[in-house]
Parts: sequence; C-alpha cells; structure tokens
Amino acid sequence: MRITDIRETAIPLKSTLANSSFNFSEMTTSVVAVITDVMRDGKKVCGFAFNSTGRYACGAQMRARFIPRILNAETKSLLNEAGDNFDPEKILAVMMRNEKAGGHSERSVAIGTIEVAVWDAVAKIEGKPLHRVLAERYNGGKVVDKVFCYVGGGWYAPGKATQDLQDEMRRHLDTGYTMVKMKVGGAPLAEDMSRIEAVKAIIGNRGELAVDANCKFSRDEAITYAKAMSRYKLRWYEEPCDPLDFATLAEISDAYDGALSTGENLFSTQDVENLVCFGSLRAERGDVIQVDPPQAYGIVQYARTLDMLARHGWPRSGLFPHGGNQMSLAIAAGFGLGGAESYPGVFGPFAGFADDAKLENGYLSLSDRPGIGFEGQAGLYKIMRELAGI
Ligand code: MG
Repeated sequence: MRITDIRETAIPLKSTLANSSFNFSEMTTSVVAVITDVMRDGKKVCGFAFNSTGRYACGAQMRARFIPRILNAETKSLLNEAGDNFDPEKILAVMMRNEKAGGHSERSVAIGTIEVAVWDAVAKIEGKPLHRVLAERYNGGKVVDKVFCYVGGGWYAPGKATQDLQDEMRRHLDTGYTMVKMKVGGAPLAEDMSRIEAVKAIIGNRGELAVDANCKFSRDEAITYAKAMSRYKLRWYEEPCDPLDFATLAEISDAYDGALSTGENLFSTQDVENLVCFGSLRAERGDVIQVDPPQAYGIVQYARTLDMLARHGWPRSGLFPHGGNQMSLAIAAGFGLGGAESYPGVFGPFAGFADDAKLENGYLSLSDRPGIGFEGQAGLYKIMRELAGI
C-alpha cells in the first residue's frame, strides 16, 4: 500500500467578518488530499483536511518540503508494524526530517494539516469514524456518540448593531446551543460592556456566555477589561493578550475572578507546558486550553501535549480545541475533551459539521461515516473531491 500523491490548494474564505484584531477579507485556507492506492468499496481511499480558519494557506512549505519527503520515503517507513495501514507517527517523523528546533508556526500548520488528512485515510482504511479510532488508541476505548459544542460567534461586521448581535445569539440558543461566545475589544470598553449585557439579557438562564479578545489588549487594557467583566460570571475570557506573554497573562489571572482561556495560537507542546507553568492558568478555576491540532503538528503531537498536561494534573475536560469543524469535533470526541467549537453560518463550506448532524441541549451528534466525515458536508466535500480528482 502506498501514498500515491498529496495535493494542496488554497481556497479564499470570502468573509466580511472581523474580530478585535483583524478581518477575514484576505483569509485563505489550505485544503489537502492524501491519495492512496488502497481500495475500499471499489474506490481509492483519499484522506482530507484543511488548516482550520484564522491561519492563511501554507501550500509553499507543503510543496517544497513536506509533501516530497513523504512521497520520496521508502513505503515501509510510512506503515504500521502489521503493514496493514499507514502510521501517522512515522509520517510525522518523516515530515520533520532536516527541520531545525523551534520556529514552530513556520511549519506546524502545514505539517498538521497533512497529518490530519493522513488520519482521515487511516480511519477510512480501518472502516471506522475518526473519533472511534482516536478513542480506541488514546482514550481507553471510550467511544461517545455526541460532543458538547458551543458557538464561537458574536463577530464584528459592517453595520452590525447590538440588536443584530442579540438576534444572532437568540438564533443560536433556539437551534439548541447552550453556550455562546462573542468578540470583545473591537469597540470602546463601555460599548463592549453594553454588548455583553445585551447578550446576557438574551441568554438569561438558558446557557452561558464567554468572550474572546483575540490578543488585542495591552497589559493595562486587558486588566481594565478583566476588572470590568468580573461581575458578569462569564464562562471564560479568551486570549486577553499575546499568547506567549506569560508574565502579563499571570497578572491578568490574578486580576480576574472568572476563568481564562487561550492556546489557539500556540503551536508546540513546549509552549503549552510553559503556559501552564508560567501563565498562571488554573484548571480548578475552569480555565481552558484551545490548541488546534491541524495547526499544531496534528493529532500525534496533540496526544503528546495531552500526556504532558496529564503530568501537570490538567484534566481533559479543560481542553476545547479551536476550529469549529469536523476535525476538532472528532478530536474532542475521540480524546474525551471538554467540548468543541462551532461557527454556524460563517466561513462558508469551512464551517459547520455533517449536514445531517443533530444538535440537542448543547450536544452535537457524531456521524458513523468512516474517517473525519467530510463526505457528509456537501459543499466542502465537493472542493475536496475536485482536488483529489475522484
Ligand atoms: Mg478565539
């Protein structure tokens, strides 16, 4: 069995949305197809992935280094012991050949996206959904049929008024979500506080609210917001400052009464370990780590990060991978994490889950389709099928 080709294409997200720090008008994502010569149900097995949203396409690194390394590797060096499937750990090692330490984000997105596409193929060859394969390997076989899922929404958009924000949040709750998140930091403090109060009025006792500052704030702004928001009993205050500014994060942690979250912009196990050791995150307070596996070397490395976190006593319930897509949904289910994110109605085909997924009381049902399950997302799967030529 061989990987016969790996293809990449950059697709624009075409979104008018913005958070406090940047808009998505130029945003692209890399879609990857790992094509094998393994046949299932009369068709070639192809693994697919994309690099989530919020990081630009990274095809140049894939085409120059990581794809050739895999295609030029000896076939046996990519297979498991039994020789009956591909081995993502070995394929990760092949991609990391001749790479210097550090500088993770220069390659972690490209490598992680290819690695997750390999997992899609591995699960399809096993004939199982990815969440089941991951549960068997990494979570003692605890297979679940639904995952807690919250909405990452509340974006700033041209002409969007507070009433529109309230309408958006009401829609999410009416759909079945019990937790929503909104952006802060893109308006003056007083306006953001009245946006929070307006959304809290809509939620009432139907659920919880979190806020996301997308690393916008200086130390003083972050602490001012922390003090102003302490009274709202938010589920969490996300990315108040630069993700590697552990000293400032520790100060914010002392100034804020609620839970903090960060990590979607950390790309290595070591950075996450530093965050836990020096950023004063506290699991017992409900703090959350949001590493996004396709952007951070993929699933094998994510398992290593979880092993490291377990040594620090960090529970899996304190992990919510960023992403709002079927990859992070399968990963949250397979590893038994706290939950996953969802972006209903934004980012076109790159948001959302299987077209037949059901949402009930904040939990999203999982599909039994082999692999990640992109075949259940008509719009996205069309792009992937065209890329693979199948
Ligand atoms: Mg975020």
